[in-house]
Amino acid sequence: MSYSHLASSIAESPTLRLNEEAQLLLERGEPVIHLGIGEPKNKAPLSAILSSAAKLSTGDVKYSSTDGVPSLKKAIIRYTEENYDKVVEPENVIVSSGAKQAIFNLLYALLNPLDEVIVLAPYWVSYPEIVKMANGVPVFVTPKDGGLHPRMADIEEAVSSSTKAIIVNSPNNPSGLVFSETFIEEIVEFCENKNIFLIMDDIYHKLVFNNRKAAPCYRFTQKDIEDSKLVVINGVSKLYGMTGFRIGWAIAPRKLIEVMTNIQAQTTSCASVILQVAAEGALTGPQSIVENLRMTIENNSNIMMQELKSIDAVKVAEPGGTFYCFPDFSAYSKDSVQLSEHLLRKAKVVTVPGKEFGMEGRLRLSYAGSVKDITEGVARIRWALDPNSPNEIYIGNRKMVRDWL
Ligand code: PMP
Repeated sequence: MSYSHLASSIAESPTLRLNEEAQLLLERGEPVIHLGIGEPKNKAPLSAILSSAAKLSTGDVKYSSTDGVPSLKKAIIRYTEENYDKVVEPENVIVSSGAKQAIFNLLYALLNPLDEVIVLAPYWVSYPEIVKMANGVPVFVTPKDGGLHPRMADIEEAVSSSTKAIIVNSPNNPSGLVFSETFIEEIVEFCENKNIFLIMDDIYHKLVFNNRKAAPCYRFTQKDIEDSKLVVINGVSKLYGMTGFRIGWAIAPRKLIEVMTNIQAQTTSCASVILQVAAEGALTGPQSIVENLRMTIENNSNIMMQELKSIDAVKVAEPGGTFYCFPDFSAYSKDSVQLSEHLLRKAKVVTVPGKEFGMEGRLRLSYAGSVKDITEGVARIRWALDPNSPNEIYIGNRKMVRDWL
């Protein structure tokens, strides 16, 4: 059987393979620690559960309008006003099955074959694949100073007459960096002047540390939303730890929302009504859950930074948000897939290879789990890699002796 060129070009993810291997180890009762996870451990907000349960118990569960349940769209408009100081109309909002579907709809709506989309490395793994699925070409821009923060000069160099859009994700998965206000200001101005769409993937924008605020992009444009090139992507997955509810949204000029709605009409019809109502419950319910989650994650981030200091040759940029950091392990190995495999097989710790995010020699470590997972996970990584660490460790209740360094 042969599949389409497009389908065959979608990258097979080494992470999936590693996760499957980890799952098999877990099923065998091995004490695996997961530092690969991309979701917080908290339970969904009660307000989300109650409103979706109430809707379900009516038994009246039908299609909603393609672009979303009006009352959820209203809650999203209020959220946008409160967090972005921007008043938008219902016609500027589409609700999708996760931010991921919103991004797919958006790129599918924007791109002609071979249009280019600037993707800033390190990037979320799905951007290049979605660009390709929409017949576009991802153009990768890596900071030439060897760091993790994007630089305007590098981006300007990569822009061509085929550039249709630039994707910015701050706070950033995988680096945890919150991009500077100056950068956001410059890239908004650049895109508005050059007529390039600027896709702000703001899925982590409230998960920030040390009293910071991620700069809302609308602050840097004078344009009316209908003339603007800004598109903001958001959702409940990371904000409330509601990854399984699959609700995200996009805010964009109404003409673009119309096309995205047409696309959604022919793929999923609409996001599930039960889950849309759950998202509305979360957005309109008590918001203390967001702050509690944020504080837990900030504390976890501090612990992760502290623990990583114990590994001699690891260099790490302190995250300003998200639940990831992206340390440089190149002193131990330049091949991140091999390194991840080594850590899983020897230390029973799951990590995500930097290669997946377009940067070799690094691993993405998540601190969304428990404090114990972080401290024990990093101790095991140290044992597996650092010849200066003691060569014996307990993994579960088995004493392990390192014999490979
Ligand atoms: N953007 C980024 C940067 C993400 O990390 C993720 C989830 N890992 C998403 C979008 C997708 O979010 P959702 O669950 O709403 O589809």
